[in-house]
Amino acid sequence: PALSRVMDNQSHLKLSPEHDQPMGTWSTEQIRNATSQSVMMTWAPGKAKHNTPLITHGEGVYLYDDQGKQYLDWTSQAVCSNVGYTLPESVLQATLQQMTQLPFLYGGLGLCETRARLSQLIAEILPGDLQGMVFPSSGSEANEAAIMMARRYTGKYKVINWYRSYHGGTANSQQATGDFRRWYGGDHVPGFVKAFHPNPLFWDLAGATPEERTQMALNMLEEQILNEGPDTVAMVQFESVIGGGGVIVPPPGYMQGVRAICDKYNIVMHCDEVMVGFGRTGKLFGFQHNEGVIPDIVTAAKGITAAALPLSMTACRKHIMEYFEDNPLGWGSTYQAHPVAMACAYENVKYLIQNDIIGHVQRLAPILEDNTRRLAEHHPCIKQYRCIGLFGCFDVANPDGSNPQLQHTAIDKAFVEYKKAYTANGLIGLMRPPHLHVAPPLVITEDELLDGFERQDKALYVLDDALG
Ligand code: PLP
Repeated sequence: PALSRVMDNQSHLKLSPEHDQPMGTWSTEQIRNATSQSVMMTWAPGKAKHNTPLITHGEGVYLYDDQGKQYLDWTSQAVCSNVGYTLPESVLQATLQQMTQLPFLYGGLGLCETRARLSQLIAEILPGDLQGMVFPSSGSEANEAAIMMARRYTGKYKVINWYRSYHGGTANSQQATGDFRRWYGGDHVPGFVKAFHPNPLFWDLAGATPEERTQMALNMLEEQILNEGPDTVAMVQFESVIGGGGVIVPPPGYMQGVRAICDKYNIVMHCDEVMVGFGRTGKLFGFQHNEGVIPDIVTAAKGITAAALPLSMTACRKHIMEYFEDNPLGWGSTYQAHPVAMACAYENVKYLIQNDIIGHVQRLAPILEDNTRRLAEHHPCIKQYRCIGLFGCFDVANPDGSNPQLQHTAIDKAFVEYKKAYTANGLIGLMRPPHLHVAPPLVITEDELLDGFERQDKALYVLDDALG
């Protein structure tokens, strides 16, 4: 009887008249009401939606709200909207054409030109023999695929990750994560081992030179692998540059040392480039700051489509790809290798290369660094800063090298007020107390960049008062 009632109701399904209004014509009140009733937030309590601006459109590096207020996108949203909001014509056209011609093709059912082209293009721009390509939909899934690849390929199961890293929100990628975000899932998934990364602060405070720091961190990593049992460790999975955890760049020689340790113990080396891949650091991929290092697996997402559509990639070297010619990876999702997202990615990556966006990032990087230093010098709330390419980070806690993410409460409170000042001064961006990221779209002009620092300068006085 219950089922027939449902069926019965469905045969009388009716839409409310508001749905006859074309998209883009609802009033602020309609949108806020519907949001109140049914929208759920994920990283914040649901009620956060009441204080979140209602964004109507974007143009260049700016977003606009329903009141017409302009915001400079100071963190490329989640460090992903890398080409801003006026998408290149080629991206729009290719995406629309694919949508019209073949909106979907399940990855295992057929091949298509878009997949062939994107695979070849990415293989051409990656160094070495990184030529096997899987295209999931999100960074988390790309890392799931990487973990599956490494486990199947090596026949081993443990994965070593750094504290302070973020790898995603699916079961394995969340357990691979080293910061507080893994606690949401509990430490339930076995097989993940955490390592300390060569955080400059720890070691510099102990008086170590960068070379000594590298050596000590590598000695610790090797000792850890030996203690875990090298025949159980499938993969070392690190962010090439820790992004959300505070823009932490490994010291010279460290990644080369990790490569050598992985070779010695037959361990897969994976660089997670989800946040920094496709130009953020002034190289196409962050690991390319470490000469001669070719990881076995590279994952990326965000920048591959500049977030215009969901797509990620898991690229592996030839020997791993060949292993899977005879063995199924045994991992996938309905939307992997989505033709419309791949068409968007293909044109976006071509755009980055043909317009030398990486060169542009390299030209702006010293300006970002100078201004980051300037703000750090005259705002007492800023205790330290780091930057690389168009990626900067201030810490408003932690002069002593301990993990700033563990010192939350007072800082969280101050950030509530800071966020208001930030918004009032026309900035919009992701906040991860006690870090303040600076990661504007890669296409930002010099004037826009300087303007962004002026806006942030004005907002920072609120934090000086609270924390300075
Ligand atoms: N890995 C890194 C380094 C990230 O920064 C992120 C997201 O910010 C992820 C993985 C997860 O990507 P996604 O949110 O697309 O699943």
